[in-house]
Formats: sequence, C-alpha cells, structure tokens
Amino acid sequence: MTFRALVVEKDDDGTRASVQDMELDRLPEAEVTVAVEYSTVNYKDGLCIGPGGGLVRNYPHVPGIDFSGTVEASDDERYSPGDKVVLTGWRVGEAHWGGYSQKARVRADWLVPLPEGLTTRQAMAVGTAGFTSMLAVQALEDHGIKAGPVLVTGAAGGVGSVAVALLSAMGKEVAAVTGRPEQEGYLRGLGATRIVPRADLAETVKRPLESETWGGCVDAVGGAMLARVLGQMEYGASVAAVGLAGGANLPATVIPFLLRGVNLLGIDSVLQPYENRVRAWARIAELLPMEKLEDMVVPATLSDLPALGADILQGKVRGRVVVDVNA
Ligand code: NDP
Repeated sequence: MTFRALVVEKDDDGTRASVQDMELDRLPEAEVTVAVEYSTVNYKDGLCIGPGGGLVRNYPHVPGIDFSGTVEASDDERYSPGDKVVLTGWRVGEAHWGGYSQKARVRADWLVPLPEGLTTRQAMAVGTAGFTSMLAVQALEDHGIKAGPVLVTGAAGGVGSVAVALLSAMGKEVAAVTGRPEQEGYLRGLGATRIVPRADLAETVKRPLESETWGGCVDAVGGAMLARVLGQMEYGASVAAVGLAGGANLPATVIPFLLRGVNLLGIDSVLQPYENRVRAWARIAELLPMEKLEDMVVPATLSDLPALGADILQGKVRGRVVVDVNA
C-alpha cells in the first residue's frame, strides 16, 4: 500500500522538495509505525525543506520535526494500534525521517500519549513551538517572575504567539515585540496588553543598563535584540532564551548579570525526558485557551510546504502552520 510524503532530494544542483508516493519498506527501522494526521511548520523545518542548514544528515530526507497521529503497529509494549500519540524533538525530521508523511516509523521513547483534552489537530496547533513556549514559561516560573510586564520577542511567530497566550492565561501583563505593525490586533487578541515595535529594540547596546522594565522575557529572536533586552530586565528577573530568528551572535556585556542579577535561561525542547514532556503537555492542555489556539492556526497541505518553508525563514509566517498530511 502506498502513501504520500514530502521528500527532499539533493544533487550537484542543490536540493529539491516534492510530494511523492512511497511504500512502507522505505521508512527507517524503529519500533512504532504511526498513521500521521497532522504536522507543523517550524523554523527548523524551513531549514530542512531547503538546503538543510547542517541539520539533515542523509538525503533523500522526509522533514517534519513534529507530528500527531494514531499508532498503526508497535513492537513496544507501551503502545498498541489505535493509541493516539504526539512527537516533538529527538532530531526527528532532521536526522530521522519525520512528520511530512502519511506514515512515520519512530522509537517508542520519542512518543508521548496524546494529552487528555487535546485533539490531534490541537496538539499540532501547539506543536514544537508551543511546547517550547511552555518550557520557557515554566523556566521563568521556576526562577520567579517579577512585577513588571513579561516581554515576548518574535511575538507574531509560532513560539511567540503561544507564549503570549499562555502568559496572558496565567494573568500576566504581556508586552509583545513585533516587526509587523499589522499584527497588533492579532497579538492583542491573544492577550498582549502592550505592543513594542521591533525597531525600539533593534539598536545595538549603547548603555549596558537601561530602566528596569521587564519582569521576565521569552525570547525567540536572540542576537542584538536579546543583548538589548538583558539591560532592561528588572533586578533578579529572567530571560528564557528559545531561539535565534534574529541572529546567533550576542553582542552583550556581563553588566546586567553582575549588577542586576539577571538570569539567562537556555531552553531546549529537543532532548526533554519523557516525564518533562508529559508534564508540559498536561499544563498546555489545562492552561491554553483553545479559541486563542484556533486564532493562531494557518491550515496547510503537503504540497504547500516548499513555499511555507521559505516563508518561515523570512519571518513571514504568522502563528502556527498546521499541516493536514491527508488533505
Ligand atoms: P517563527 O518564524 O514562527 O517566528 C519567529 C519570529 O521572530 C518572526 O515571526 C518575527 O516575529 C521574528 N523575527 C524574524 N526575523 C527577525 C529578525 N531578523 N529580527 C527580529 N525579529 C525577527 O519561528 P518560531 O517561532 O517557530 O521559532 C522561533 C525561534 O525559536 C527559531 O530560531 C527556532 O529555531 C527557535 N526554536 C527553538 C526551540 C528550542 O527547543 N530551543 C524550539 C522551537 C523553536 P515578528 O514578525 O512578530 O517580529
């Protein structure tokens, strides 16, 4: 029986992505075969649909760093046919074929049961970006969120959108940084109480300390913006650093750490132990308002992916792209 997948191939002229029919025996060896229902488009997917950016180990490759679906066959006693499951991380879609396919074969250790209260579609509307936002918010809570507003950078993107909605649902005042003024209504709808134009934080650090403004920060942008934000944190406040959409270099000084006791917390969603993944998903299901989640969704099919991969790398995607692999 054949099924469809987005396959990226590489030759001397570069990489090419196309939707192809394939057979089950082409899938990598692993314990659990999943009938995939939904996957999503994350920043890393944009890299893997294109030239790989050092993430893809072997071609041909099937990208898709997350998916939800139903177990079809399992050699592991933890999962049986018919179980609903979710996968994020573990370099699936990078080093191992991923979710841009109607079937996926993965290690049982990489899966979690579909969280109670979420459909497979809602779980992917959250996806890797939203799961990572929850980890970031938990890290801020663990270190204590201070009195001022919580800043979210890259707010109209996937990580940012979910972070705004989660923090707002927790009763926090949320300031959203965006380079897209036309997304103000969208961000206020998710719960942002203040919009900060990207340009306000774009200038590189001139003074290592500015007014103490933010009680916490979820940062999806990195680079010069993160360096600037560090000098604006309240005494003892924390920044959960999630991404580098604005660059990997950090042109900062040590002053905010020395004189303001600022914490810079690195967030990694890829290698989270099973218990942490289950705990974060349960909290998402409990906390995240589903009507706000629906506002974030951009629906897509497998054949839309080459264009969407390019869009996300240019910061053009709003919210969360949910790919119905059977559409
Ligand atoms: P998106 O592309 O959806 O969002 C990124 C947002 O950042 C954009 O929407 C834009 O927001 C802003 N942005 C883009 N380019 C720039 C720029 N040059 N300068 C300033 N702001 C910019 O990506 P995701 O939200 O999915 O991911 C964000 C980052 O987080 C990526 O680097 C990704 O790799 C990383 N990530 C890390 C994870 C981890 O485990 N640590 C897991 C998931 C993602 P706006 O238009 O509102 O300004």
